[in-house]
Amino acid sequence: MLKGSCHCKMVRFEIDDAMDGIFHCHCQTCQKLNGTSYGSTGFVSADTFRIVTGQDSLTGYESSPGKQRYFCANCGAPIYAQAQTNPDRIGVRVGLMDGDPGVRSKAHIWLSHEKPWFEVLTELPQFNEFPDQD
Ligand SMILES: [Zn+2]
Ligand SMILES: [Zn+2]
Repeated sequence: MLKGSCHCKMVRFEIDDAMDGIFHCHCQTCQKLNGTSYGSTGFVSADTFRIVTGQDSLTGYESSPGKQRYFCANCGAPIYAQAQTNPDRIGVRVGLMDGDPGVRSKAHIWLSHEKPWFEVLTELPQFNEFPDQD
């Protein structure tokens, strides 16, 4: 079982299954909501993910129509995102994991939004948008 928590530790969550890979998303929304060059997300099945403590501290924000991003209202840490179009699949912010989530990075995506002050030096695949899922 995987465990994660926000910075203030109010929100703690568990994931029963493995993540199916980590994507580093450079889209403008991830930049704005994380304050960083990109957001790192691991996708999991919604039915394997549960909030253990801090449900009351979770606040949702609709970052695009039908897509909710949940963050800790106390420390501001982004926790996970869920889209109405694909509610069975949740994007968990990998930086919150306590310990090694076991999987490795798959790709950098949405590089069409990358800022000039960040240089992507990687041997991972890079995509201008989100790649087609297999
Ligand atoms: Zn917190
Ligand atoms: Zn993004």
